[in-house]
Amino acid sequence: MLPDESLAIIQKIEEPLAQEKGIQLFIKREDLIHPEISGNKWRKLKYNLEEARSQGYFTLLTYGGVFSNHIAAVACAGQEFGFKTIGVIRGEESSKENPTLSRASEQGMTLHFVDRTSYREKNSPTFLAQLKQKFGDFYNIPEGGSNCLAIKGCREILPRSENYDYVCISVGTGGTIAGLITTKSLESKMLGFSSLKGDFLKGEVENLIRKCLLSEIQPWQVISDYHFGGYAKFDQNLISFINDFKKNHQIQLDPIYTGKLFYGVINLISKGFFTRGSKILVVHTGGLQGINGFIYRYGQLIEKPK
Ligand SMILES: *Cc1c(COP(=O)(O)O)cnc(C)c1O
Repeated sequence: MLPDESLAIIQKIEEPLAQEKGIQLFIKREDLIHPEISGNKWRKLKYNLEEARSQGYFTLLTYGGVFSNHIAAVACAGQEFGFKTIGVIRGEESSKENPTLSRASEQGMTLHFVDRTSYREKNSPTFLAQLKQKFGDFYNIPEGGSNCLAIKGCREILPRSENYDYVCISVGTGGTIAGLITTKSLESKMLGFSSLKGDFLKGEVENLIRKCLLSEIQPWQVISDYHFGGYAKFDQNLISFINDFKKNHQIQLDPIYTGKLFYGVINLISKGFFTRGSKILVVHTGGLQGINGFIYRYGQLIEKPK
């Protein structure tokens, strides 16, 4: 099954709190593009796959943590589009039993485990040379997939001006929001909800935009109050929120990115952050494969998606 961008529809969300505050809430269903090459990971890979093919590469190599949505997407895309794939994984060999990595190797990905110190050196010429010696030539995709071709793909998430006052999106490496900020036809304020702790994101996104010779077109802001203690950290409030959201709206959120995003948006609505009459679009960036890994680590806190 190939990814299908036309499935990423926009739906209205009937949320009593939003109605009470005079806010219209919409969701962009990037999660529906493909069950495994999901959401923004497909947007980021699309032009990279084209480029790899046109440059004559047969192998894709990329980087990620042991539960990474990006690793899952690249493994599946490799199988779907006929590339060999290599995942340079930050972590222990024993992690290869987890749902993300066992699925990735089932799809043909070669897993190469490195410790945290070496992983930090992954962009150095020496590290790259060692990888080439070991695996031969490959098309190199950075961690999280966030390069300039990825940003190009993410500029297609909201191609038409839809007149939303705010577009809210989850932020990890910043590639996806960089695409939205540089989309010409939009006229919305972008709010990036950080899934990690730290104040480096604003700078990272600016660097990425500059490096790709783009300019900031939409006003934007990082919201860093809803990371729940850091990447992949959570508490019972977040878990209940995700389970209730599923019950009320029949939409599955994940605990790493989109759950925190929606929790944050609803919390800001309740605090009166948005003026009455605002139209808000929240982008569901996918990542539902991560739930299996979450259950693997913490037990059945969240219902398994179909
Ligand atoms: C990777 C990911 C993000 C973060 O995207 P960046 O481009 O790295 O900022 C957000 N949501 C989901 C579901 C993801 O898998």
